[in-house]
Amino acid sequence: MEKPMTNGMKGTWLPIQASRSARNTINPIRRIVDRMKISPNPAKEMISLSIGDPTHYGNMLPPVEALEAIVEAVQLPTCHGYAPSFGTLDARRAVAQFWSRSNYIVKPEDVILTSGCSHALEMCVDGLADSGDNILLPRPGFSLYVTLCQSLGIEPRFYDLLPNEQWRADLSHLESLIDDRTRAVLINNPSNPCGAVYSEEHLRQLINICERNHLPIIADEIYADMIFSGNQFHFLGMLSENVPVLSCGGISKRFICPGWRVGWIVIHDRHNLFKDTIKPGLMDLSSRILGPNSVTQAAMSHILSETPDSYYDDILQQLQNNAEFVYNSLLEAPGLRPTMPQGAMYMLIAINPSAFLDIQDDKEFFTKLLCEESISCLPASVFGIDNFIRIVLTTPMEKTEEACQRILEFCHRHAKTIA
Ligand SMILES: *Cc1c(COP(=O)(O)O)cnc(C)c1O
Repeated sequence: MEKPMTNGMKGTWLPIQASRSARNTINPIRRIVDRMKISPNPAKEMISLSIGDPTHYGNMLPPVEALEAIVEAVQLPTCHGYAPSFGTLDARRAVAQFWSRSNYIVKPEDVILTSGCSHALEMCVDGLADSGDNILLPRPGFSLYVTLCQSLGIEPRFYDLLPNEQWRADLSHLESLIDDRTRAVLINNPSNPCGAVYSEEHLRQLINICERNHLPIIADEIYADMIFSGNQFHFLGMLSENVPVLSCGGISKRFICPGWRVGWIVIHDRHNLFKDTIKPGLMDLSSRILGPNSVTQAAMSHILSETPDSYYDDILQQLQNNAEFVYNSLLEAPGLRPTMPQGAMYMLIAINPSAFLDIQDDKEFFTKLLCEESISCLPASVFGIDNFIRIVLTTPMEKTEEACQRILEFCHRHAKTIA
């Protein structure tokens, strides 16, 4: 159909057409999940293992030190106005200090504050690629990456992560995707939805591919340091000698306050490859939104420096306890194979449809589990991989226990029995 030139040109109103960008902006979670019109079992209390918001059940809350800092900030006469669009010096300095190490100093001028990590990612994608270019993305991967690329006309190209190798990237597959329109490689570590934490060696392999092909890295490090015992976290930007890295992060997950909307881009650029190009480009892009909210910015230095380690250890312990409980319970479930996460807040569980009488794939598993057991999870097809489901590990333990019990019963009820 022809697009009307002017609304109501011929004397009548016609429906107002949405822009190309609006039409191309697709959230795969909403698209797949919302279209399945299903309701939970009214006889059973709903347990959500699908909502990626750690504040949902009230068992995980921001640190008291952070609440106090916000209350104090909101009473200051100085923090109600516009801040610089890339963030106040005070808040950028706090982020720089927080991530500096004895052998690696982050400078405040290399920090750009954003409205959450999502906004940081959007600016990086927008700042590095044009319509018609491509960016390499992990599969399975956080669905926002696809949404951002498509909305800007950038082609998302997916490199596989290997389920049987703790979701390491398939390096030769990744390298085979690169062409002259490739502008960046996006790496998410620790990862959503996989819960993978990459070793230094694997990160160096990824950096080497980018170095050979002269590609910058967009590092989604929102789960930086959120790792379970026995693992180590490394920033890509600190390991990389020659590849420039834009590290995206934020306070949403680590300080359990996704609604506060402060994130950042830390620019790692040892050889000034971004200095006169990408860096001013990102500063210009930040002027579209005018930065994150000023109250949270004013509280940032207090939040980052005063939150005790015990707060953080407790959150990680809850996540790890949940992960171990779910893993051990579901190992016994017919048709399921949980993969033990190494960090972040999620677990992927493989589904084997041939073990079930009447479940064809992850979407059908999701639908039937919700209808019969009032448990919501996410079919991992929303993350680009079939026959896995993702559950969150932020639920209170008693809900986790109840949920595992119901999932076990559900799997037994639908399993093929061996005669
Ligand atoms: C939650 C999440 C984000 C977004 O964080 P905000 O700061 O709330 O915008 C980005 N990347 C991944 C992988 C996430 O899970």
